[in-house]
Amino acid sequence: MTVIEDLIARNADFAADHFTRGLRLMPALKTIVIGCVDPRVDPNEVLRVRTGEVATIRNVGGRVTPELLMELGMLRRVTQAAGGDIGPGWEFIVLHHTDCGITKLTDRPELLSLYFGVEEKSLSVEAVSKPRAAVAQDVAILRDDARFTGVRVSGLVYDVSSGSVELVVAP
Ligand SMILES: [Zn+2]
Repeated sequence: MTVIEDLIARNADFAADHFTRGLRLMPALKTIVIGCVDPRVDPNEVLRVRTGEVATIRNVGGRVTPELLMELGMLRRVTQAAGGDIGPGWEFIVLHHTDCGITKLTDRPELLSLYFGVEEKSLSVEAVSKPRAAVAQDVAILRDDARFTGVRVSGLVYDVSSGSVELVVAP
């Protein structure tokens, strides 16, 4: 069985026994999680989130990049089109983790400067190599974004060796 055949078979099981009808487009917890693509750190799994509760954007490192900000701006438009807004009552949670693959790119400043949309000389190596520093930086960027005034922003670091998250930046 190929991977795709295996996954389609798993979906048949999902559709038959685990699918929830009637979920809404807007996340029930009015929360957007920004997390890493790392397969060990699925935000829905490690935070025990149920389908429909949060919206999740995952990228390399779970980082707040210009693209990520653009995507949040698009989600705000989607929310406005649905008659709401991303503001007071909403939460952004930045979820970083130990042993992140992005820490192996600190010798590729040209790649990182493109990713973060900054010049190489303004790259903070610490904010790439240390998850606590990285999460603090990303929370600060989100808090500074005038489009999302009133959104509670917090930062977590997940330990891949223990399964526990630490609240590094409180909302
Ligand atoms: Zn990662």
